[in-house]
Amino acid sequence: MNLPDTQYFLLVYPICLILIGAVFIAAHLWFKAPKYLLWMGLGCILPSVALGSQTLMTNAQLRLTAPWFALFYLGGAWAVVHGMLLKANSKSNIFVATTLIVVGMALLLYFTHFDEKLWLRIIIINIVILCLEVLALPKVYDLFKKTYALEKILCFSYVLLFSYGVIRTLIVIVYLQNLQDVNLVTTQWWMMMVAVNLLLSLWFAIIVSAVAVKERFNIINEERLRDPLTKLYNRIGFLEKTKDLFNELQHGEVYLVMSDIDNFKNINDAWGHVIGDEILCEIADICRSNIRQGDVVGRFGGEEFIILLCSPDEKSSFALVERLRKKIEDQLFINNIRVTASFGAARIMTDSQLSIALELADQRLYHAKNNGRNRVCFN
Ligand code: GH3
Ligand code: MG
Ligand code: MG
Repeated sequence: MNLPDTQYFLLVYPICLILIGAVFIAAHLWFKAPKYLLWMGLGCILPSVALGSQTLMTNAQLRLTAPWFALFYLGGAWAVVHGMLLKANSKSNIFVATTLIVVGMALLLYFTHFDEKLWLRIIIINIVILCLEVLALPKVYDLFKKTYALEKILCFSYVLLFSYGVIRTLIVIVYLQNLQDVNLVTTQWWMMMVAVNLLLSLWFAIIVSAVAVKERFNIINEERLRDPLTKLYNRIGFLEKTKDLFNELQHGEVYLVMSDIDNFKNINDAWGHVIGDEILCEIADICRSNIRQGDVVGRFGGEEFIILLCSPDEKSSFALVERLRKKIEDQLFINNIRVTASFGAARIMTDSQLSIALELADQRLYHAKNNGRNRVCFN
């Protein structure tokens, strides 16, 4: 053991990172968290195991084990790079990464067993880590440009890790040339580098967990607002989106359209519920692809759909709903089944009048039903 008693606290950071890494891996394996967490977990654990072990070693032990612990550092760096690429929905270049690691390991073994040079070994490890990290930089930049604030912080933190790697390498090159003669782990540089390394890694791990938690919340929220069958908004989702739409609306008129499939019970009775469900999905697709950007469509109940249309006037709203009705009428659904739907619509002035408009649209829908179905009723 190499460490003065008072410095055992240095082990606290690697142990924290190992625990965080274990939580990431457990979250992926048992709680279905995304795969990039598995890799980020390995990225936390591998270098921390190496660092923790090396902190306890003498220089002689360090020399003997250095190339093998280097594998932990390089593997850990690669795991973080791979995790970041997965986060950015991109593929890793395994060939380039493996080549870098193999070449790095060969050089490390050479400078351990044939030409003992600690300084060169540290430079080699740092340069290979930087080369690995560079592989993800373009994709991290792409992600940064298009993502939300928290993920931007994640991308920024990755670049921070990389930049620190560059500075660390320069410090080693410039200031640590005489490393052979001193007890490495007790030098001020080493201590400082370990501290900054661990603080940055802890920061990075915290941001990764925050992003993962936010992703989960987004998914749960999305599931709360969506109908599981058609993936349209459900009643809660529709009402929430309606509020957003009114807040953003600058000009034009807003119409609430209720739609109900005609004689759908007969279709279920004749073809069964599975075919009925398939038809509901196809109708949802027709609605989705025939509304304009900014309009909101939802499934309000069993075979009832609801649409919030923003349009310049009643005439163009009527034309859009009529087109939708015609598309459904003309479509050959699964098993060549033909289906029609009836529509009732009402204009809404403000979102506070939504319930009045709902009642009015419902009355007009029933008017359409009573007048023979397969029609649009706007008044
Ligand atoms: P109308 O033209 O008067 O609307 O006649 P209808 O048969 O469509 O109306 P009714 O209210 O009598 O029946 C609605 C049917 O919709 C009954 C129910 O089995 C069916 N339904 C509701 N939700 C679902 C669903 O999720 N899947 C399937 N397959 N059928 C559903
Ligand atoms: Mg109905
Ligand atoms: Mg019906």
